[in-house]
Amino acid sequence: MTVKVLLREDEIPRKWYNLAADLPSPMQPPLGPDGKPITPDALAPVFPMNLIEQEVSQERWIDIPEEILEILYRWRPSPLRRARYLEKALGTPARIYYKDEGVSPPGSHKPNTAVAQAWYNKQFGIEKITTETGAGQWGSALSFACALLGLKCKVYMVRISFDQKPFRKLMMNVWGAECVASPSPLTQAGRDILAKDPDTPGSLGIAISEAIEEAVGDESGKTRYSLGSVLNHVMLHQTIIGLEAKKQLEKIGENKVDIIIGCAGGGSNFAGISFPFVADKINGAEIEIIPVEPASCPTMTRAPFTYDHGDVARMTPLLPMHTLGHEFVSPPIHAGGLRYHGMSPLVSQAIVEGLLTPRSVNQLQCYESAMLWTRTEGYIPAPETSHAIAAVIDEAKKAREEGKEKVILFNWSGHGLMDLTGYEAFLEGRLADYPLPEDELQRSLVSIRGLPKAAKNKTGRW
Ligand SMILES: *Cc1c(COP(=O)(O)O)cnc(C)c1O
Repeated sequence: MTVKVLLREDEIPRKWYNLAADLPSPMQPPLGPDGKPITPDALAPVFPMNLIEQEVSQERWIDIPEEILEILYRWRPSPLRRARYLEKALGTPARIYYKDEGVSPPGSHKPNTAVAQAWYNKQFGIEKITTETGAGQWGSALSFACALLGLKCKVYMVRISFDQKPFRKLMMNVWGAECVASPSPLTQAGRDILAKDPDTPGSLGIAISEAIEEAVGDESGKTRYSLGSVLNHVMLHQTIIGLEAKKQLEKIGENKVDIIIGCAGGGSNFAGISFPFVADKINGAEIEIIPVEPASCPTMTRAPFTYDHGDVARMTPLLPMHTLGHEFVSPPIHAGGLRYHGMSPLVSQAIVEGLLTPRSVNQLQCYESAMLWTRTEGYIPAPETSHAIAAVIDEAKKAREEGKEKVILFNWSGHGLMDLTGYEAFLEGRLADYPLPEDELQRSLVSIRGLPKAAKNKTGRW
């Protein structure tokens, strides 16, 4: 009875997969404040040049440096597990497999890119990295990576999570990083927001502005900024997840996957599991590929695809993406990692092309799904991951109704052991659904009026 499929260290993928090389309609470039495509040089104060090269690369396969693999061996290749106990509880003929990214030291998929980014920064002579974090997963992943590579790390943590999730902040401190609540009085961006709204819960967009301001303000030139999702090079680093999963499925004779599911905040864990299979779909395979988001933050399912900034202070270039508007502040759901206003341009373009079928779920359904999961499979998922689980359960029930033996693969993006206050609120009946009201969506979209429009390029093949 196969319940887990493991790979040896020497079976780890040695190249990342770059979807930009295969998308049938080309990606549109990031734009500067003047509306013209930005040059790599313009990004140089923010990111090291070796990562900028990856960001704009059109190479299909990019070598993973040996030193990065040596760090990843601590937990990679990650297990592919089969959710036999959930299958049984649901009475479904579907076979459900999941990549367990919760086994990394910080407990999610995020160190896959944190380690790579810290390593490339160090290669480039950088000594300190600044970043933002929502729920604290990314901040703790980057703190962990910086600790291993001997870099300083400063994390701006969204206020509401800073208050709700003190243990993530403490993890960052244990790994030697500095963590401050955002908005903070330390930056101009933070001071401006605090003057307008002293009680703001904060947002990822605000925290990003603060972290970039600190990085570009360091006159020694030894500080850079790092983003944990959204950008092309982050999607690239996460593809190790899907590439491993392919080898693992092959190993047990599963030659065809019918459905792939991942939760999507900025899109990175979803891209990680799905992009190697999106390549198969482009080449003719029939696969349904589903990114799942909260109904409170419906970026893929209700927001336009257009150019927008990644942050409130408009410090980032304009990216072509699905966006709720850079001034969006999400309702206070517990899935902190899924509250970002934008979506990865690569994921967004794949949606425009029709390669992906996004859906949204409400918070209570997510927690109910997580409860069924924990009481069958045992592991406690992150609130973000529970969005994927909700969609998996829906699909497994559908397979039961249709009497079809479908193969479902999803990404178990992280454990929820640092997110138990959300479970506490659920168990005490204090949680509610907050589907985003249409008038709030329209109000938030005001911030993108007047920005350039992105073209909806598609071949019409899907
Ligand atoms: C950050 C996070 C997410 C969402 O981020 P993506 O970039 O969309 O993957 C999902 N799950 C977990 C556990 C996370 O920490």
